[in-house]
Amino acid sequence: MRYLVLCTGNRCRSQMAHGIIRHINPGSEVCSAGVRPASEVHPLAVKVMAEIGIDISSHYPKSINEYLDQSWDYVITVCGGAKENCPAFIGNVKNRIHIGFDDPDAFSGTEEQVIEEFRRVRDEILKAMSELFQDERPALNSHNKIEHPQAHSAEHLLNATMVKMFGCPRSRNAHVERKKSKCDYILDSEPTAEEVAQIEAKVNEAISLNMDVTVEFMPREIAAGIVDLSKLPEEASETLRLVRIGDYDTCACIGNHVLNTREIGTFRIISHSFADGVWRVRWKVN
Ligand SMILES: [Zn+2]
Repeated sequence: MRYLVLCTGNRCRSQMAHGIIRHINPGSEVCSAGVRPASEVHPLAVKVMAEIGIDISSHYPKSINEYLDQSWDYVITVCGGAKENCPAFIGNVKNRIHIGFDDPDAFSGTEEQVIEEFRRVRDEILKAMSELFQDERPALNSHNKIEHPQAHSAEHLLNATMVKMFGCPRSRNAHVERKKSKCDYILDSEPTAEEVAQIEAKVNEAISLNMDVTVEFMPREIAAGIVDLSKLPEEASETLRLVRIGDYDTCACIGNHVLNTREIGTFRIISHSFADGVWRVRWKVN
C-alpha cells in the first residue's frame, strides 16, 4: 500500500498523520507533502508524536510536486477550515480521502495551551486514522493484539465493579475475546451466588448508563496519581493512554474500546470457579 498525506505546509498535521499511518501500517510506504512546504517540521509536532512513541524527528517538509507523477492507493488531505487551500491532487489515485483537522500552528495561547492544542489534534488524527485503516490498528507499544472493543470495554467495567465490591485488584490474568472471555481475581473467599448475580447486574447497570469512553494521553508521573500502574510493563512509554468510562472507571490501557457503553450489549457470566484464592470468571457480551 502507498499512502500520501497532504496539507498546506507539510509542517504539522500531515506530518503527524504520516507518522501515525506508518505506525499503523509498518509495511506500507507513506509520504507526506504540502502545496507550500514549510522550512521544517514544527518542533511541537515532533514533541507530541514522541510522547506517543512515534518518532518523526527525521521528517522534513516536501513539495507536492515531488509526487505528482506517482501512483497511490490513498491520498489523504488533512487541511481544516474553509480558509485553507486544500491541495487538489491530480495524480493516479485509487482512494481519495479528505478529513479536516484544525491547524495547531494557527492556535494562539500560552505555551502550555499551544502544546495542549497539538496534543488534541494529534489524538484526533490518531483516532481518525485508526478508524480509517482499522484492519491494522495502531500499536502504541509492542502490544498489538486486535481486541474486540465491546468485550474489552466490558472487561474494564467488570474490573471496576470487582474493585468496588470486593476491594480486590483488577484482573491479573485476563483473556478477552469476542466469543468468550475470562478474568481472574484474587479474593479471600468464593463469591456467593447472590454476589455473582450482583456483579452481573452492576456491570449491566453500568452499560445501561450510556457512558462515553474517552481517551487521554498524559505523562506517566501524572497518571500515577490517577490510576494503579503496578501492572504496567517496565518498558511502557513515558506517555500513557488513559481510558475513562464515564466516571465509572479509569485505566491505563492501549487497547481498542467502544465509544459509548451502549455499544457493548448485555454482559453475562457463563461460569465461575474458585481455587487457591483465585476466582476465575468466564463471561461474554452480546
Ligand atoms: Zn484495557
